[in-house]
Amino acid sequence: MNKRVFSGVRPTARQHIGNYLGAMQNYVALQEEYDCIYCVVDIHALTTMQDTSELQNNIREVVLDWLASGIDPQRSILFVQSHVPEVMELHTLLSMVTPLGWLLRVPTFKEKAKLQPENVNYGLVGYPVLMTADIILYKATVVPIGDDQLPHLELAREIVRRFNNLFGKTFPEPGAKLTSYPRIVGLDGKDKMGKSTNNAIEIAFTPEETLERIMTAVTDPARRYRNDPGHPEICNIYSLHNYFSPSQTEDIADQCRSAKIGCVDCKKLLAQHINSSLQPVRERRAQLATKSHLVADVLADGAQRAQVIARQTLTEVKEKMGLI
Ligand code: SF4
Repeated sequence: MNKRVFSGVRPTARQHIGNYLGAMQNYVALQEEYDCIYCVVDIHALTTMQDTSELQNNIREVVLDWLASGIDPQRSILFVQSHVPEVMELHTLLSMVTPLGWLLRVPTFKEKAKLQPENVNYGLVGYPVLMTADIILYKATVVPIGDDQLPHLELAREIVRRFNNLFGKTFPEPGAKLTSYPRIVGLDGKDKMGKSTNNAIEIAFTPEETLERIMTAVTDPARRYRNDPGHPEICNIYSLHNYFSPSQTEDIADQCRSAKIGCVDCKKLLAQHINSSLQPVRERRAQLATKSHLVADVLADGAQRAQVIARQTLTEVKEKMGLI
């Protein structure tokens, strides 16, 4: 049996090229080596989301992005977190062995509490416990993460060690599969690319929408006029050329520095390359979207397969804890 991978994505929006270059291409590649479980973590989303009117739609959009990018629902398990409610039961049981002090120290809890002082809910502080339950309910041992997420995984490992010490060896300690996710800066040139900051290029955009959005991008702020020499190394458009125009980057950099190319043409070139690179994914996505039951069927099948594993684990946990 292959090692098992677990990874979750919050259904806050359709996926963008930052997600595509980072997590999604990695998800596809991991299928070659591991048994993969990919989860749309809708309960996690509730810790920061109060308006849930778009939640179901967002789940569908994320899954369409996954399928179009090459995640294979026959090989991997794709499901929605809340469709396997055993995870919430395990979360409650793990919360009995997790000292509150461990959770209050988590840097992302402090950040989120500052960001939404009007909604510092219980779920926010318990987030790492639910994340641990997500992973260990399936006894996954491989968690693909960037190094910024290592503290979360270390906390999950501490919870596992504590549980195993108290009740006997039950869970394997999950390990990180460190992935150097490129940090894709948004088109505003400031924040990480993301839907909430309105600085993203969504995978599902049309070529026209892609061009339109790229035209709004901030470039080298020192290049005010067409004849000013540019500084590609500080330009966000140039950093995207690195991914989508790899064979032309030197040439673009030279032309930018010598003002032989203007930003408008440079952006048009980038749009062309992004559009041609994403064309197969977009075509597949459009085709999949016409099958009205597809996403629901994939998720129902995934939940059923996930639940088989989840129930076995939960029974074992309850026995160890003296609940059965
Ligand atoms: S020409 Fe291209 S790389 Fe140079 S500043 Fe303009 S957009 Fe950036």
